[in-house]
Amino acid sequence: MTKIKSVRTRVWTWKGPTVPPTGNFCTNASDALRIEGDAMASFRFHQWLTCEVEAEDGTIGIGNAALAPTVVKQAIDEWYAPLVIGEDPFDYAYIWEKMYRRSHAWGRKGIGMTAISAVDIAIWDLMGKLVGKPVFKLLGGRTKDKIPVYYSKLYAGPIESMQREAEEAMKNGYKGYKSRFGFGPKDGMPGMRENLKRVEAVREVIGYDNDLMLECYMGWNLDYAKRMLPKLEKYEPRWVEEPVIADDVEGYAELNAMGSVPISGGEHEFSVIGCAELIRRKAVSVLQYDTNRVGGITAAQKINAIAEAAQIPVIPHAGQAHNYHLTMSNVNCPIAEYFPVHDVEVGNELFYYIFEGDPEAVDGFLQLDDDKPGLGITITDKHLSNFEITE
Ligand SMILES: [Mg+2]
Repeated sequence: MTKIKSVRTRVWTWKGPTVPPTGNFCTNASDALRIEGDAMASFRFHQWLTCEVEAEDGTIGIGNAALAPTVVKQAIDEWYAPLVIGEDPFDYAYIWEKMYRRSHAWGRKGIGMTAISAVDIAIWDLMGKLVGKPVFKLLGGRTKDKIPVYYSKLYAGPIESMQREAEEAMKNGYKGYKSRFGFGPKDGMPGMRENLKRVEAVREVIGYDNDLMLECYMGWNLDYAKRMLPKLEKYEPRWVEEPVIADDVEGYAELNAMGSVPISGGEHEFSVIGCAELIRRKAVSVLQYDTNRVGGITAAQKINAIAEAAQIPVIPHAGQAHNYHLTMSNVNCPIAEYFPVHDVEVGNELFYYIFEGDPEAVDGFLQLDDDKPGLGITITDKHLSNFEITE
């Protein structure tokens, strides 16, 4: 038996070139605030946290988190790491409970649960490496020949450039495309028309035999969403994502009950009980937890069971290995989100610059290796000159 010897965290701050921001590229929760400077600032994150859990035999498991990395780093270093060191990594469910219960007063959502997620993912990667199996083989195994992915980008912008991007993306054979709304409540009726024009324009390119997903990123409110959903029906979206802020569970339930367009969400929900609540209240038709926020793979697998029992599909937020391994091993996870490899823009792309081994989509699918132990990713120093690293 090997025990956990150390936990190392690093914050990676991108200092390299970025794609300049454009206005209205995605509505977000900050839209309701007085505009002070860059309205999109809260949307972009050019930092990432890596968390390496090392066993006594020198094997290292890698986890990561993207929410508030500098604060999450401190939470792990000062609070969670001492709880984990000395434990047997195969006692993962107990370790999870220990982290959860010892920080319950302040950590069960947000920063605390994000820190728990990063450590838990690293422990799963470590277990995979210790037994020489990919993580999905420890979670139930292969349920798909390959994973169908949907193209997730199409930020709002000039109609012609969105259409050009969709045309370009179609060359890779995706069967689903997610675009972002650029306008919300503060933009009134003219904004509503701008939103609808863009949905129509994307549909014009991808046709009606492909899925179209629409993303609000919490930038609308209940009243606005109630007026928008019926107008969107004719475009047959597979779902409308995060129409209201994450705390407005009642609002999600009301919109979902309209039966007009399926509502999705969950990437800003935390823990097993938090997601169970979304399921129980029928707040979403598609659950989209993010493994590196929700409580890691240990929590995600429990949520998967609850969602499966309620027949609510789970399509985790974001690409990344940890989400793909869960998607591969669960029949109730039908497809995966896929951020195309791209110059650094909002920050979703950063993991392509920090890690090596994340699978790339080919002809609309991606594949996991049956023989690659753990999550199959390594930390790369290829782009090191573009990062400032805080240990
Ligand atoms: Mg989203």
